Amino acid sequence: MNKALGIDIGGTKISCALINTQGEIISEVEKFKTPKTSKEIEQKLKEIISKYEQDVDFTAIATAGAVNNENNKITGSTANLPAGYKDIDFMTLGNKKIFIENDANCACWAEYKKGASFGYKNSIMLTLGTGVGGGIIINSKLLKGSTGAAGEMHFPLSRASRRLCTCNSYDCYEIYASGNGLKKTGEEIFEDKNITTYDIIEKAKNNDKKALRALEIWQEDIARGMLGLQNIFDTECFVLSGSMEQFVDVKKVEEYINNKTVTSKTKVFHAKAGNMAGMIGAVLLGYDTIL
Ligand SMILES: [Zn+2]
Repeated sequence: MNKALGIDIGGTKISCALINTQGEIISEVEKFKTPKTSKEIEQKLKEIISKYEQDVDFTAIATAGAVNNENNKITGSTANLPAGYKDIDFMTLGNKKIFIENDANCACWAEYKKGASFGYKNSIMLTLGTGVGGGIIINSKLLKGSTGAAGEMHFPLSRASRRLCTCNSYDCYEIYASGNGLKKTGEEIFEDKNITTYDIIEKAKNNDKKALRALEIWQEDIARGMLGLQNIFDTECFVLSGSMEQFVDVKKVEEYINNKTVTSKTKVFHAKAGNMAGMIGAVLLGYDTIL
């Protein structure tokens, strides 16, 4: 058949489409509002899978949370999905094989197979949104760790104890490098607790000096964490994705890392695999993993 059903499960919507072995979407992309309970999510997934299953080799699911490929259980944080989501037995949702992987890892794989990091055996993808997601590819293999949770971008940048992160550590990378991190930096510069990420971006577009300074500090914080990652993993390139990456000057970040790294020089790219990178990567990784 040479095609699979790709499904992307997010906190607000579930998307699905048929995708071929080249990672091309070959059907309409269907989108559904994510149901409120895990039972309803399970039901929705069963409906989607039964509709397409006879036409595909397998189903590939990109999900929030870390995925243990040994038992296909979700182990990591799924804060934006209902309680009980982690207990869904994904393998029983259809009659054909089902492959499941963390959404950031899937998007990272899509970039590697047909996007910005195509041709590079060692790369790291950072998804800059409300939080920071990540995927790490070493020698053409996705780094999974012992339980499947590797690539969580939570590590302290300082010991100032100023900002509490969603992971309960102070001054963690995510609380500086995310959209929420830009808001916190803006709060400090404008001395205004109510300023939003959107306000800062809008002000920066109008050349407001404080907003431009907030963006500059935010970008340097992103680069500081990437410098650490470069020193640990010695990558050939980084890919930045997510809603906030468009505000990053990748050349400046690249220069910062390459001026200070103790390993090798790297490249920093904007993501290229598009909005559907999660489900595309899930299908391509599924073909590389289970078939
Ligand atoms: Zn954290």
